[in-house]
Amino acid sequence: MRASMHQAASAALTQILQFVQPPESQRTLPCPCGHQAQYKEQRSKPVLTIVGLVTVTRPYYLCSRCHVGQFPADSELDIVNTEFSPGVRRMQALVGQQSSFDQGRQELQLLAGIEVTTKAVERTAEAIGADIAQCDQQEINRAIQLQLPLEIGPKVPILYILMDGTGVPVRKSETEGRQGKSQGQPARTREVKLGCVFTQTGLDEEGYPIRDLASTTYVGAIETAEQFGKRLYVEAWKRGWSQAEKKVVIGDGAEWIRNIVDQHFPGTVQIVDIFHAREHLWDIARALHPLDLPAQQRWILRHQPKLDSGQIEKLTAYLDSRRADATAAQQEILRVETAFFDKNKDRMRYPEFRAHGYFIGSGVIEAGCKTLIGARLKQSGMFWSVEGANAIIALRCCHMNNRFEDYWDQRRAA
Ligand SMILES: [Zn+2]
Repeated sequence: MRASMHQAASAALTQILQFVQPPESQRTLPCPCGHQAQYKEQRSKPVLTIVGLVTVTRPYYLCSRCHVGQFPADSELDIVNTEFSPGVRRMQALVGQQSSFDQGRQELQLLAGIEVTTKAVERTAEAIGADIAQCDQQEINRAIQLQLPLEIGPKVPILYILMDGTGVPVRKSETEGRQGKSQGQPARTREVKLGCVFTQTGLDEEGYPIRDLASTTYVGAIETAEQFGKRLYVEAWKRGWSQAEKKVVIGDGAEWIRNIVDQHFPGTVQIVDIFHAREHLWDIARALHPLDLPAQQRWILRHQPKLDSGQIEKLTAYLDSRRADATAAQQEILRVETAFFDKNKDRMRYPEFRAHGYFIGSGVIEAGCKTLIGARLKQSGMFWSVEGANAIIALRCCHMNNRFEDYWDQRRAA
């Protein structure tokens, strides 16, 4: 039944898409080169729509000076340089961001009765993603150049900004000349920087903070910390940065995160995720008691309370005292870790943060790295180009942030 409905609808649609020849008086069009393009003839092309294959016949204009042709009807129908209707491209983009391109192809066939190649899903999803990424970038450039408009909305009690990095496997050509994680090995991955913004209004019965339902939005890309800082700043602004009574940034204590906060979010409460901080303690425990798990656990039991109670000076003083009878390798780890705790000490005053009812963990962004990035971009056998990965990341963030339909509305309006 569906197939025969599609057949009838595509036949009717083909009739509707027969554009008439322009009258004698309207056979020229301005060409972007400044010259005039002349009407040549009616031309047809096949277009796959959500009800099946149709034929569009429309006037073709050619400029005799620059030899560039144009189909005004194609711009109107949003089918410039493509043989897929906007409806089919929207479906391809949706399934292409959700799972592998081949799985997307199968879903299209099953759910919509539309047959396309895996490559077509890939091309369309990446093209739409790239367009979304470009729109995002234009918005960022405008926002950075001009004063951002003041967001008018309800007051936000606490606004959180979280950020983290996660590796995505890329093609060899994308890592040439880059240092890998292990010495001498070329990097096989590139880092996606992911950020999220969410709000908190209250606490639960036991006094733990609750994230406001559906309040989390994400931004991400493979890009420099400087570019990413602007991206996150614009997102925070859209989410009510100027209306927030309290602002909190949570990260893992990495230098690039501190730099972004200094530049774009000065004066916020800064917190190092407590689980990352504890991981640093474990690194020390493993160095001091190699291959002796019970001793490592005893060491953690004795020293983690200093961290959890925010007494970082006590912790670093102890670490300093351990240096005297340590091996050279242990000394090096003690030196690095002491510097880490010292640099971040004011970001680890956990009892104080708890008293304010703040989150002290960055679980939301780590979950984002797994579901938003990992689940789609780190499947076995996947090797991305930076451009392709960024297109799919932009598409996934757009979809996750509930802005996918807004994008198509804007496209229709343009
Ligand atoms: Zn021209």
